[in-house]
Amino acid sequence: MTGPSTNSLAIAIFAPVGRDAALASDLLAKADIQPQPCRTFEELQRHIENGVGAVLLPEEELIPPRIAWLSDWVRAQPPWSDLPIIVFSSLPGDLRLRALGQLQEGGNVSFVDRPVQRRTFLAAIRSALRARERQYDSRRAIEARDQFLAMLGHELRNPLSAVRFATDLIMRQHVPDPWIAKHAATIERQTAHLNRLVDDLLDVSRVTSGKVTLRKERTDLALLTARCLESLHGMAIAQGVSLTRRPESGAVLVDGDAVRLEQVVCNLVTNAIKYTPRGGHIEVSVSGRSGAAVLVVRDDGIGIPPDHLDSIFEVFNQAPTSLDRTKGGLGLGLALVRALVNMHGGVVEADSAGPGTGSTFTVTLPLVVAASREAPPPPVEAIGPHDAGMRVVLVEDNVDIRDTLAELLALDGYRVDGAGDGPQGLSRILAIVPDIALVDVGLPGFDGYELAQRVRAQLGPAPILIAMTGYGQPDDRARAFEAGFDEHVVKPVSLDDLSSAIERTRRKKAAAAGPAASSEGGGTSPSGGVLRVVARN
Ligand code: ADP
Repeated sequence: MTGPSTNSLAIAIFAPVGRDAALASDLLAKADIQPQPCRTFEELQRHIENGVGAVLLPEEELIPPRIAWLSDWVRAQPPWSDLPIIVFSSLPGDLRLRALGQLQEGGNVSFVDRPVQRRTFLAAIRSALRARERQYDSRRAIEARDQFLAMLGHELRNPLSAVRFATDLIMRQHVPDPWIAKHAATIERQTAHLNRLVDDLLDVSRVTSGKVTLRKERTDLALLTARCLESLHGMAIAQGVSLTRRPESGAVLVDGDAVRLEQVVCNLVTNAIKYTPRGGHIEVSVSGRSGAAVLVVRDDGIGIPPDHLDSIFEVFNQAPTSLDRTKGGLGLGLALVRALVNMHGGVVEADSAGPGTGSTFTVTLPLVVAASREAPPPPVEAIGPHDAGMRVVLVEDNVDIRDTLAELLALDGYRVDGAGDGPQGLSRILAIVPDIALVDVGLPGFDGYELAQRVRAQLGPAPILIAMTGYGQPDDRARAFEAGFDEHVVKPVSLDDLSSAIERTRRKKAAAAGPAASSEGGGTSPSGGVLRVVARN
């Protein structure tokens, strides 16, 4: 949660009975502090949600439902916020605290004795506002940090793309020299690792600031988990731990974004592998019961100290471990997991009896009740052949990315022409009329969106237009499709991503043109009939 929308220093006053509100407002106004009188509790709620410097109210207004609302609000505050609540009171100390109930546990509550002395009242208000100002300072610092991290992640994507393509190129050649082959493999592995860190950085800033929307569909959590486990099998073997899945009776359906849920499962299992020493065991199970889909990832690894079970879900938070730093990442994975699970209406919990006793992570999501007869799942998309010598215009202003990607595509049998800015790209595309245009969105001259619009206006729907961007936010995608792109891929792109995007578009276009035009098994590519795919990671 990002908290109230303003950094207001107004004092919200809720004292509907008697003259408390009028007197307090008057005193505050004379002291140059903005009063915000609220006639109803609903009005007070609205002001608190929009942002206030502090809340002022008499103890007799603190009836249980209001205390409950305030306690919930206080508990859900973002970490930087600790809203001061000032209570006019004439009760003796003990009774005062009892009257507060649950609010006294998490709330920043102070009392002003009745009859109210002007000086003590203003001193209490000023001290509350000073504290609130410091909280706003922390908020600004956190926001600046997050903005910086988002920018850093974005800026790292271009150089990473170039390194990735260059390494792909080397790895696809037969390298006779084992020394070069070995070090190229290291670069490839480490680039994949860097790539994951950058993805996490960008994801965390987008997810936690609410910029990610889910593409929900009916998804089988059991199947999705099986896929994750398959992809992490090699990592488990390398780490010397056993990774098993408890067999489940069938599909466990949830209404979710498959890509994001896969991120959740893979993150938890990767952690289990990372934090379990050689010889250990990890067991994963998925089950559907009484309205809930439950995923459990249990390991017998290093465990988590009890006082860290909650905080490990916070950004950059890591439990103290005896592992060397190379095991740990940036402390972002679990923050991402929790944000994504919450967005799906679920919860994630960690459990451990302490260091050395292993850990259990449980994700609970709302279960979709299956219809009596499920439609069979769509067939897994296979990458088919592409026609020999398809023409591609690649519009990209980063020379390294353009050159390496052009070479990779050429190796796959495409005929590639490059362009470095919007106007040049447009004239190339109009002159060549390629089968495919791959277009970076941030271009000098005019941007990729305008380029796509102009191409569509002149050449109609035929050429496949694929946008490549640094940000994968939903509005980027929407904007790309609106401008006339058929597909949208996020940098750093792998040849996989591109191949699948091209293939998806070809199928869509073939289907739109009618069954006769469908070209399953169409032509052959010079590289051996099938778009060869470079394994990622
Ligand atoms: P990272 O793994 O990059 O540090 P995460 O957010 O994924 O970040 O995890 C945060 C912290 O939670 C880790 O640093 C580790 O201390 C702890 N943790 C996560 N999963 C486990 C696990 N399965 N066993 C023990 N500790 C874990």
